Order: sequence, then structure tokens, then C-alpha cells
Amino acid sequence: MHSWLRALKRDQRHVLAIIIPVSKTPKLKILIIGGTHGVEPQSSYYAEQLAKRLDQPNILIIPTLNPDGIKVNTRGNARGVDLNRNLPSKNWQASPPLLPNGKLNPYYGGTKPASEPENKKLIKAIEEHQPQLIISFHTNHYVQNPNPPQVNLDILSDDEIIKRGLSPRLKQRGRHAATLIAEVLDLPVTEDIGYATPGSLGSYSKDLAIPCITVEFNDELHGKQLWQQHGEKFVALLEQL
Ligand SMILES: [Zn+2]
Repeated sequence: MHSWLRALKRDQRHVLAIIIPVSKTPKLKILIIGGTHGVEPQSSYYAEQLAKRLDQPNILIIPTLNPDGIKVNTRGNARGVDLNRNLPSKNWQASPPLLPNGKLNPYYGGTKPASEPENKKLIKAIEEHQPQLIISFHTNHYVQNPNPPQVNLDILSDDEIIKRGLSPRLKQRGRHAATLIAEVLDLPVTEDIGYATPGSLGSYSKDLAIPCITVEFNDELHGKQLWQQHGEKFVALLEQL
């Protein structure tokens, strides 16, 4: 058994990243993230299963970005910050920690961009691994916006790609991966989630010109059910990319 697996069993909170070493064949560098929202433990379970199954070079997996939230079943981290609204994207917005009715703001973005230690580690992982594709697992756990299960692709517009002198292959790569993932998961692909997501990983990835696929699993299913439905197919798919 790998040492990280032992660490996982002993204390999940200490496991942040699993690095599978680079092979000689150039493969797409992928970063996979689960457990951003503690109320969506299926996302963490699925990413953990992938980490156990994958023998794919160039894949970095962070199964549980928000271990404190997972532990106590909260959307935010221990400070009540929504990690998916706290990344230092150009569109980050200040927001109050509490709603006018005194309840916690589920979309609280923190005191400043990247104020949270979990996101500092995520940013470092992106800088070090330099992924060409990011896959982030969530569920459609209801918050405020209706959000059906889907595969959402965040990617730069054609104009931005030209303006920034980037290769059009960037978009092809993102769309190709999103289409394959949607087929395996039997979910629709979208390129617009339908509401603003300031400070999200999708927004931050767009700034960095990295295609980002957000998988919104069906929240009504347990992690084990999701894994049984398509886990092995997902492994095979990642091995192809
Ligand atoms: Zn989520």
C-alpha cells in the first residue's frame, strides 16, 4: 500500500495532494479536485477512488480541498468561506459573511482573494503542476441557484484567445475533454452555468487560460453509487486524454 493511502486512512485531513510521477510519454497534465464544498462528500469520495485506481502519469489529484467542511458537513471551510468564491480571479468580489437575515452567507468569498490556506495550497499546486486541464468535482447540492447535474466547461472566448495570442487548440482540448466526460457520466455539457461565479475555480482557470471542467454530480446519489455507475469508465477515459 502506498504511504499516502496509509495517511488517508489515519487522518484524511493531512492528505492534500497525490502526485503520480511524470512518464516519458507526453500526456495532458491534469489537475483533479474534489471536496471543495463540505456538503458534497460524493465529490471527495469519487476523487479518492480515482486516486486509488489511476496509474496515469501527469495527473495531480486533490481529493479533499476542504477537509474541515467535509468533517462537519458545511459548504464553507472552518472560517465559513466558500472556497469556490475565494480564488484570486479578476472577478473576485467582496461579500459579507452573513446575510441580512443573520444566516451564514453560503457564497462568502473571504476577506480578500486567496485569503484561505486551502486555496493558497491549491494555487501553489497549479503553479507547480502547470495543468493543461482542470477537472473539479461537485454535486448540485441546492444553495440558491437551481443547478441541474451537468458538465460545465469554463474556457476563454475566441476573442480572448486571439487577443492573448493563444493557440485555438486550447479550446479544442477543453471541448474534447468535456464532451468525453459528459458521455461517460451521461450528463449535458454547458459552457455557461447560468449565474455569476466570482472567485470560482472556473473563473480563475479562465484567467490562467486553463480549460476547467466542473462536474456537477447528482446530489441525490451517494459517492459509492456514482462510482459504481461510471468510475471504471472514468478511469479509462482519463487514461486516454
Ligand atoms: Zn459545490
